[in-house]
Amino acid sequence: MAPTHYDYLIAGAGCAGLSLLMRLMEDPFFSEKKILVVDREEKNKNDRTWCFWEKEEGLFESVVYHQWNHVLFYTNDFSTKLDLNPYQYKMIQGIDLYNHVIEKAKSYSNIEFRYEEILSINSTPSQAAVQLQTGTITAEYVFNSILFEKKPAVSTKNIYQLLQHFKGWVIETTEPCFDPATATLMDFRTSQEQGTTFFYVMPTSPTTALVEYTLFSEALLPKGDYDSALKRYITELLGINEYSIQHEEFGIIPMTNQSFHLQDNRIIQMGVAGGQVKGSSGYAFQFIQKRTAAIVKGLKKGNTTFDRMGLQQKKGNVYDAVLLHVLHHHKMQGAAIFQSIFSKNKTASVLRFLDNESSMVEDLKIMNSVPTTIFLPAALYELIH
Ligand SMILES: Cc1cc2nc3c(=O)[nH]c(=O)nc-3n(C[C@H](O)[C@H](O)[C@H](O)COP(=O)(O)OP(=O)(O)OC[C@H]3O[C@@H](n4cnc5c(N)ncnc54)[C@H](O)[C@@H]3O)c2cc1C
Repeated sequence: MAPTHYDYLIAGAGCAGLSLLMRLMEDPFFSEKKILVVDREEKNKNDRTWCFWEKEEGLFESVVYHQWNHVLFYTNDFSTKLDLNPYQYKMIQGIDLYNHVIEKAKSYSNIEFRYEEILSINSTPSQAAVQLQTGTITAEYVFNSILFEKKPAVSTKNIYQLLQHFKGWVIETTEPCFDPATATLMDFRTSQEQGTTFFYVMPTSPTTALVEYTLFSEALLPKGDYDSALKRYITELLGINEYSIQHEEFGIIPMTNQSFHLQDNRIIQMGVAGGQVKGSSGYAFQFIQKRTAAIVKGLKKGNTTFDRMGLQQKKGNVYDAVLLHVLHHHKMQGAAIFQSIFSKNKTASVLRFLDNESSMVEDLKIMNSVPTTIFLPAALYELIH
């Protein structure tokens, strides 16, 4: 009979669950722990591509698919090539990360996988319990990345709920059209009527690139609109007429200043469900890496309180709320905000700012680069209310 109690149960085998599992496998401290990973489905689809910036080699360096040292930034009246040094912009394909971790786990006799729907999770101070259709499994700790409710539970003051929604095509061209050393981080040369709207172009060879159409807005577009915007951009802005679509991806990432529960007794939240999406950018991959690294560190020290936020994160959350306030109330267009920030600051400072790792001096410079008449009242409002 399958065991019904484990030391650790990882609920959700996506980015957060598998990042945590990878860290647990890499550390001999956990070799005796009985670990169960549960997901509703086998992770055998290339369902997303992660892009993020990083200075050193990361946990998933061996599956980095491509990386860039320079990125382009465009608006209608401005363009620049940004040198990311000391960072690299990296791309990981979902399927490569899933295969890498799941393959490694096969050689660990203390790790099991189960593919079943989790109906609910609850916890007392001494034990957590996971309800599956086939029964209950208990664990000393459950590390959860399943968002059971669409809206996170903790609700405070002014909550902004933008969606970052995007459609991406990996296209292959007949002629060499791309420079694989340079990606386009943000190209705002498109209508801003629906909200902050831009394209990414991530070339991985002279003839292959992921082109993505992204919006920050309250509502999704009719399905066909993403395709027509991509077609138009590829033909009119990139000047490419002959291409085939090799792969498609669609995603919706919540951008909010809502507070999330980080821990409920022995349930430790992580990933999107643990609020690891940066409210103002939608980036989550590196925040998930920080969270899972902090969990492993805490477990090793016997410190299992994971509901505290560091000062840098609290500060970052205030900045996110201010930006979401400005976007939500249409006080300034996202294109103009990002243009001001990228054109007037060192790129590395902006990336540290977006990572919640910037110094106070860098913060002040970045704040100074956006119009104070717009951002100061928004900041005061967010701090007071
Ligand atoms: C298409 C896409 C592209 C993205 N690109 C980037 C990017 O470039 N950079 C970046 O920083 N962030 C990106 N993100 C945001 C974020 O990094 C990802 O969403 C990331 O996968 C979040 O990790 P997670 O573990 O929280 O959730 P997921 O990776 O979605 O994992 C959750 C897991 O829980 C499982 N699950 C859900 N409900 C149940 C249930 N009831 N029972 C059992 N299992 C369940 C799911 O099957 C899934 O495997 C992207 C998101 C999407 C959707």
